[in-house]
Amino acid sequence: MKKIMAIALTLALTLTAAAACAEATETLTMATNASFPPYEYVEGDQVVGIDPEIAAAVCEKMGYNLEIVDTEFDSLISGVASGKYDFVMAGMTVTDERKQMVSFSDTYATGVQVIIVKEDSPITSVDDLLADGANYTVGTQNATTGYIYAMSDIEDAGKGTVAAFPNGNEAVMALVNGKIDCVIIDNEPAKAYVEANEGLKILDSTYVVEDYAACFAKDNTELVEKFNAALQELTADGTIPAIIEKYIPAE
Ligand code: GLN
Repeated sequence: MKKIMAIALTLALTLTAAAACAEATETLTMATNASFPPYEYVEGDQVVGIDPEIAAAVCEKMGYNLEIVDTEFDSLISGVASGKYDFVMAGMTVTDERKQMVSFSDTYATGVQVIIVKEDSPITSVDDLLADGANYTVGTQNATTGYIYAMSDIEDAGKGTVAAFPNGNEAVMALVNGKIDCVIIDNEPAKAYVEANEGLKILDSTYVVEDYAACFAKDNTELVEKFNAALQELTADGTIPAIIEKYIPAE
């Protein structure tokens, strides 16, 4: 009798473990725009970079599988807000406006908006670009903070025109082809694009400094809390610093 009880108990425990296991392998969908190296870019048929690696480490720590969807930057916030994606990591800047629509995790990196020009450009500083009477065509990625700042500081101020591109690569190609005068973009992708294309440089003066974080549907507090706990552990044990250092080696 004792033996049957023991077997029954073992079986019950095994089933519970199996159920827990099935639950543990639930998949979270992360959306990004993989045209933002070294944070996210396509290599072969994979989306790689700092954000996918941090997401994979965090999901593993939380006990989830990770699936990555590559889509337009301007559909990320609405997609995660409506529950189409579980979270977004896309070198996404924390802003008060976005906080009206989504919940952000803790910050895991800093970004700086910089300006890419052709090597022989008459634009030598942010001040040149924002000067009265300046009339440049400024390339940005649609719906990014760079776009938002440029619209208010340049186009709405009557100091030039803002051209919005679906992603950083297309903006940089327009600069290379002489269709626009400069590109406002985050510093790390700027470095990658300048390295990949002849004849471009980044201006020394920085435009705006920002914080990056993952974002979630506004009411998904449970996932934000779990994510932050995992992020904190992975920062403390050196995993996240090592991922960032791998893509952005300290000088
Ligand atoms: N950091 C900028 C923003 O959040 C740009 C991000 C991006 O293009 N992936 O708007």
